Amino acid sequence: MSDTILTRCRVVLVRPHYAGNLGSTARVMRNFGLTDLVLVAPYAKVTDTEARRLATHGLPVLDSARVVPELGDALSDCVFTLATSALTAGVVRRGMIGTPTEMMPHLLGAIDRGPVALVFGPEPHGLSNEEIGRCHGMIHIPVDAEFSSLNLAQAVAVCCYELRQAWSARVNEQRNSSAPGPTVSSHADQERMFEHLREGLQAVGFLFGSRQDTLMHAMRQLIGRSLPSPAEVRMLHGLARQLLWIASQRKPS
Ligand code: SAH
Repeated sequence: MSDTILTRCRVVLVRPHYAGNLGSTARVMRNFGLTDLVLVAPYAKVTDTEARRLATHGLPVLDSARVVPELGDALSDCVFTLATSALTAGVVRRGMIGTPTEMMPHLLGAIDRGPVALVFGPEPHGLSNEEIGRCHGMIHIPVDAEFSSLNLAQAVAVCCYELRQAWSARVNEQRNSSAPGPTVSSHADQERMFEHLREGLQAVGFLFGSRQDTLMHAMRQLIGRSLPSPAEVRMLHGLARQLLWIASQRKPS
């Protein structure tokens, strides 16, 4: 199974009622590279045929799911936890709350320090205020106000997707900031090449008269913007040499 840092994000299902949701949750976790599933006092069983049928390639996640009696047992070693709820009213739900896109960077910020968790409630009524209050923050997936309650496994899918997006963005950022870009030719080497090119362009009559400095300046800016590599600078020297040779062939000797 996956060995990215995403395996440090636990999915906690509190008192799940339907076996199908266990299977679908395990499957979607596998899809997004999460592996740690904990079930708090579940009504549904991981051995149920419906759970196994819907899990497909998520069976290893389902089979390694831990069952604990209390939410506290599921979260005891976590350094950061986020509850999820379709409801946003009430004092408890007004603290650190946001959409999955807003909240996942907070979760990722903590994931290097230890396990983190996303906590989902039971299908009929969701998490209690007390359970939400035990988490560091809350995610509300913005949906149509007339029917804000998503299916449990679909809510897990949205959260896993956003977590993976935030993680990919972080990986790309780190890659871009640490990987040295392609080597750029030194200023002195570029100066020699520009001088050579100026001679070549003058020789073929491209640069002439009073506007030649302005034109050469524009040429320098154009080439300079591309941050030319040493090989590209050598290529431009070749161009300058060729221009000078052509010009020398044209002159009557
Ligand atoms: N009325 C319940 C709905 C339960 S649906 C509630 O208010 O939460 C089962 C679980 O799916 C919820 O407990 C929650 O964990 C998750 N869920 C469903 N809709 C959600 C939404 N719009 N935002 C965040 N989580 C949601």
